[in-house]
Amino acid sequence: MAAVEQVSNVFDTILVLDFGSQYSHLITRRLREFNVYAEMLPCTQKIAELGWKPKGVILSGGPYSVYAEDAPHVDQAVFDLGVPVLGICYGLQEIAWINGAKVARGEKREYGRATLHVQEVSCPLFEGVDNSTVWMSHGDKLHMLPEGFIVTATTDNSPFCGVAHESKPIYGIQFHPEVTHSSQGKILLKNFAVNICKANQNWTMENFIETEIQRIKTLVGPTAEVIGAVSGGVDSTVAAKLMTEAIGERFHAILVDNGVLRLNEAANVKKILGEGLGINLTVVDAADEFLDKLKGVTDPEKKRKIIGNTFIHVFEREAAKIKPKNGEEIEFLLQGTLYPDVIESISFKGPSQTIKTHHNVGGLLENMKLKLIEPLRELFKDEVRHLGELLGIAHDLVWRHPFPGPGIAIRVLGEVTREQVEIARQADHIYIEEIKKAGLYNKISQAFACLLPVKSVGVMGDQRTYDQVIALRAIETTDFMTADWYPFEHDFLKAVASRIVNEVNGVARVTYDITSKPPATVEWE
Ligand code: GLN
Repeated sequence: MAAVEQVSNVFDTILVLDFGSQYSHLITRRLREFNVYAEMLPCTQKIAELGWKPKGVILSGGPYSVYAEDAPHVDQAVFDLGVPVLGICYGLQEIAWINGAKVARGEKREYGRATLHVQEVSCPLFEGVDNSTVWMSHGDKLHMLPEGFIVTATTDNSPFCGVAHESKPIYGIQFHPEVTHSSQGKILLKNFAVNICKANQNWTMENFIETEIQRIKTLVGPTAEVIGAVSGGVDSTVAAKLMTEAIGERFHAILVDNGVLRLNEAANVKKILGEGLGINLTVVDAADEFLDKLKGVTDPEKKRKIIGNTFIHVFEREAAKIKPKNGEEIEFLLQGTLYPDVIESISFKGPSQTIKTHHNVGGLLENMKLKLIEPLRELFKDEVRHLGELLGIAHDLVWRHPFPGPGIAIRVLGEVTREQVEIARQADHIYIEEIKKAGLYNKISQAFACLLPVKSVGVMGDQRTYDQVIALRAIETTDFMTADWYPFEHDFLKAVASRIVNEVNGVARVTYDITSKPPATVEWE
């Protein structure tokens, strides 16, 4: 197979070495915001094994103390690459420590805002940066200047808040420029990447499409074929469209209708992906198979497992029916993995903890001897959305709320039956329709209806009713790690409740979930 260029070989790349700070991925994020491609790797990365040459290196912050026995240290070969290096917080302390300066616990921890005093206005890192607010998060500090370095900035508590080498392009800062609380942090990062490292600002989705299509073509070769599951969600649709652009009919998309999709979903996906986007799509109706297996099951974890396993089973069976034109077997499996999943699996979790590997469709790969193809693995969610729009995917789909793999099965609490799924599905449809009508869909990160198997008494048309409860959930979040419930107007909730009780048989009562995450999760199961 021909060698496949890595994205980091095609685009000028800043290497971010992660020492485990909770902000490390934000460094990557910020650089990409001004069109410089950046990739994060664990701090233990051996430079000789990198396979590409970065334009510059950033050493991130981290929870350790450089002087501690088990502290992680950078491969010193980064300093022989001949490219600029910037140390942030732990990264600064690491640079100082390597260069023989004393780093120790400070008298005062510094956490939160501090005012930066730029001492060396000619330092290219601080070009256009004023004495502004910066965000600190450290307990250790430099107690002396490493040899060959000068002070470029201070704060009241940190006399060595910014340092730079006298002759080499090595810089260190004690604060975190990647967090938005550092008001001019982005200017500083841009100074480093663009002015100091001379990285090309060509990381645009237009360029990405071009290089990625080329990369897929080379990887797959002239005759091999690829399969992939689509769900109607953003990631799988964008990945499938990209594959179609690259290899046309040789990409086979499969939508498994598991019986717990949203209302009319299978038909909609067929129309939008198949007819609209020209994706070579097969829709498999396996609803009975899934629902039969779910009979009598109430435990959420069991439901998830059954759906996951049945999915693999059905997908494999359908994939076996596809006979590639080259007379061989299907060779690749498309997976819509995004960069946050990759970060999660590679980010540095410390000397004592093993690094978590990510686990998407391991089963399929093993059973079917497929090679994995992940065209979105370098992208953040908003980049995927932008890519989707450029590929001509409808705005509504590109901005769709996330939907869980086990679907409505985990939104019907208790046993999942056809009747229960139908109630949850219809209530959800009304709720989302009203949210869209009110122009709130894009303000909310995720919204859905849950069916609670609790009977409650009602009265309709003078008749006593004894029916179930629908709980509505809507949350706002930036990362889904924490979330708050969305503050709807009362009139909105009133209208939705009245429509659901009137239009959906089997519902007597509607409630609104006002719990944040934590302590609650986004989904109910
Ligand atoms: N652990 C180091 C300290 O406490 C570095 C902290 C950081 O990188 N945020 O100073």
